[in-house]
Amino acid sequence: MTGSDLFDIVVVGGGPVGLSTGWQAAARGRRTLVLDRHGFFNERCGTSGAERHWRLQYTQEDLFRLTLEALPRWRRLESLAERTLIHEIGSLWFGDVDVETNEGQIAETMRVMDRLDVRYEALTARDIERRFGFARLPGHYAGFLQPGGGTIDVRGTLAALYGLAQQEGCLLRGGERVLGLEPDADGVTVRTDRQTYRCAKVVLANGAEVNSLLTPLGRGLDIKLYEMALVSLRRRDQAVDFPFWFVFQQPTEEDTNLFYGFGRNPWSPSELVRLGPVFEVDPIAGADHTTGEPDPRHVTRLSTWVGNHLPALDPEPVRTSTCLAVLPGDLRRQFYLGLATDLVPDGGNIVLYSSGWGFKFVPLLGEVCVDLALHGSTEHDISRLAPTATQEAAR
Ligand SMILES: Cc1cc2nc3c(=O)[nH]c(=O)nc-3n(C[C@H](O)[C@H](O)[C@H](O)COP(=O)(O)OP(=O)(O)OC[C@H]3O[C@@H](n4cnc5c(N)ncnc54)[C@H](O)[C@@H]3O)c2cc1C
Repeated sequence: MTGSDLFDIVVVGGGPVGLSTGWQAAARGRRTLVLDRHGFFNERCGTSGAERHWRLQYTQEDLFRLTLEALPRWRRLESLAERTLIHEIGSLWFGDVDVETNEGQIAETMRVMDRLDVRYEALTARDIERRFGFARLPGHYAGFLQPGGGTIDVRGTLAALYGLAQQEGCLLRGGERVLGLEPDADGVTVRTDRQTYRCAKVVLANGAEVNSLLTPLGRGLDIKLYEMALVSLRRRDQAVDFPFWFVFQQPTEEDTNLFYGFGRNPWSPSELVRLGPVFEVDPIAGADHTTGEPDPRHVTRLSTWVGNHLPALDPEPVRTSTCLAVLPGDLRRQFYLGLATDLVPDGGNIVLYSSGWGFKFVPLLGEVCVDLALHGSTEHDISRLAPTATQEAAR
């Protein structure tokens, strides 16, 4: 092995979390390599599509505090990249305020916002109809608008992170797949389909495929993969616009009955807006089992809901696609983030992040992965997310 194959940190996966880690490790003076099997900016992983929901609010106070910690890190990223990445079009949560969903619960989230002194506007069903153009909402529906929420420019974020990683001297290699890891007491040997590297620490940021590298060494993570539908609809009236919205409803026998939608993309306005059902049903066997075709029943359910409640949109889908969602078996924990110490021998040299709705945390996740790689700990409270956290910790 030559000096050029030796690194302080090798990051597996060049999605937003891997790029954020690569950038911040290199900025801290570490010789860093990021590898991605499909190449950077690929649409085959958990980051396809143009936008993600930015929200401060979480029902779980520890996760809420993490979004508050992520916000200044987004602002720094925006300032370094000289572009807006979070567009504050507002975050509207409404529906049955007592229903518990994987996204959270409205009534309790309002109480947490009161405690943390985060401003929001409480709304009735009639307010929501009048202000945002929804129709025929059940009278008991209610909710809130959090004006600092909105939408994140996904492609802009990836471009910003890639550029900053390059600037800091991080090596970025696309089209190279990591096939296996061999951790030992002094570091990790990383075998790819092209060559072998040696490093002090590995950061696994390879999303849906994390277990392909962990399981052969010991224990994998309890995760499930879903191919989620993304649906673009046409606005009937170009003057009408929405905040990001999420409707909380009682589940049906077949699905979670949850829907969301974005307003106009401020960075690429068009007559289309993107919506989706959040149906965590029918998990797929692996990342290579995606079809790119959404389940037609899910698209129909979304269209029907829009036809009933959003007259400003033509419910006929103009475009559909899918995105790979990785979620923990125990949905309350939301994410896995930590050292692989209790999963595999010499796992203290492996940091891992996987699963959950993690885009909103990207600059923070990169920082925490570097903290863990360099010091084995971080100042941020990530106890709920530890790969070995018990169900108790995740409550
Ligand atoms: C439909 C949908 C909606 C979402 N909405 C939101 C939202 O509104 N708000 C939010 O905060 N989050 C949201 N998320 C979640 C968010 O998009 C993801 O958490 C985030 O994009 C994942 O980024 P990542 O870097 O962890 O993984 P990925 O983007 O999946 O990147 C992993 C990378 O690893 C590479 N890789 C895999 N195996 C290997 C290997 N062996 N060797 C080398 N490279 C490898 C892959 O090619 C891939 O590029 C949503 C997700 C979905 C699916």
